[in-house]
Order: sequence, then C-alpha cells, then structure tokens
Amino acid sequence: MSYSEQDYIDALTQAAEIIGHAPTSDEYVSVRGQLDVSPSYSCIYNNVGGWNKAKELAGLETWGAHERISDVPQNVDIGQQEWEDLDSNRRAHIKRKHYLSKEKVERGCKKCGYADNPAAMEFHHPDQDRELSVSQNGWSLENLKNEVDKCVVLCGNCHNIEHREKDYLTF
Ligand SMILES: [Zn+2]
Repeated sequence: MSYSEQDYIDALTQAAEIIGHAPTSDEYVSVRGQLDVSPSYSCIYNNVGGWNKAKELAGLETWGAHERISDVPQNVDIGQQEWEDLDSNRRAHIKRKHYLSKEKVERGCKKCGYADNPAAMEFHHPDQDRELSVSQNGWSLENLKNEVDKCVVLCGNCHNIEHREKDYLTF
C-alpha cells in the first residue's frame, strides 16, 4: 500500500486529535489502530524525512514542546519517585540515551535491516562524514533530535564497511 503526502498529514492530524497534542513516535504507534488512514511510523518517517518534518508538514508542534524532563520516559523501568530523585543532568542523560536507542531500533540498519540491539547500531551522517557522538552530553533533546534526523542508522558491520571498504578494495 502506498500513501500520499495528504495521507501522512491526515494520519498525524487524527493522531494528534486523539492524543490531544502532537504525537511522539510512541504515541503515534499506540493510536495507529484507531486511524482511518494508518501508515506505519517508519513509513511516514522514511517518506517524509523525519518525524519532526512530518509534524511540520501536518502543521503540528514539533517534538519537545510537550515533553518535560520531569516525565518518566516511556518504557524506562523506573518509578516516578526514583526518577524525580535523580538529578536533572542524570535524567536528561537517560532521556537522550533512551531516545537514541528507541530511534535506532525503530529505524533499523538502513543497509541490511538489522534492528535488534541498539548497542550494535550507530548514527551515520550520510553527507558530511561526521558521526553523531551519542555519549556526548550537553545536547538538548531538541538539538539532538534535529541532528538525528539528518543521520541514517547503520549496524556496526555496515558502518564499518561504509567507512573502511575503500581501504580493502583499492590497491
Ligand atoms: Zn547493517
């Protein structure tokens, strides 16, 4: 099934109406079954060129506007109190890590499709030969998100091949 740009807009708009604000990827996935037109998250993501872009296209607020650092990230196994007891830098760090892991698994390796363990996947800048330093602190979630949208996900094997193939195949 192929979708038009209008389908993506309709799906996002309807998801936003159900949820009450611009949907995060998790929220979109959770309400997708209720939509009249229901392209998958990765379908929208890949065809529009990023989740932020898709939300912009639909005229929705982009990521970050509704997410507060005080909210426990979805799927992170920690109680609200325990979460609040962490200092804010630690919480921000966990949020970034969590976001990056989720993004890796949802997208999977662009070359071979591997999408299992986030530890085996990396962000690769296809244009500039620059890697996103995942361990780097100090990124705001929003900046990180914008940067990640410019990257493709590659598994460790494909990433090595991408960078080092030349060293082995040329003489
Ligand atoms: Zn791969």
